[in-house]
Amino acid sequence: MPAPDYVFKITCPRCDGFDFECDLCSGRGEAPFFRCPGSQRTPELDLAFRCYMHTEAGLYPVAGGLLDQSASFIEFEGIVNSERNAIDERRRKHDEALAEMQARAKLPRGAQP
Ligand SMILES: [Zn+2]
Repeated sequence: MPAPDYVFKITCPRCDGFDFECDLCSGRGEAPFFRCPGSQRTPELDLAFRCYMHTEAGLYPVAGGLLDQSASFIEFEGIVNSERNAIDERRRKHDEALAEMQARAKLPRGAQP
């Protein structure tokens, strides 16, 4: 059963966040999900994520280099990397905003940083 509000958001898979007239995200650049990510699991996705984790150690699912891998796995790897980068960027912005708020809280009232 879908949740009444979104559970998480990803970068829009149709426009990758770069189309202000995108009919999927309406230009917001994000696509909301209304179900637990675990409900979307399949044995194939589990295997793809396991293979993805090995690529961080330089190991691909098929012997050889990047061009020896399936097109679908290369696409999957790119999508996961893109989402990880987006999450890292959001986390960095959050940490910066938090540090700025903490720095302002330490200043005397009315003082400018
Ligand atoms: Zn979009």
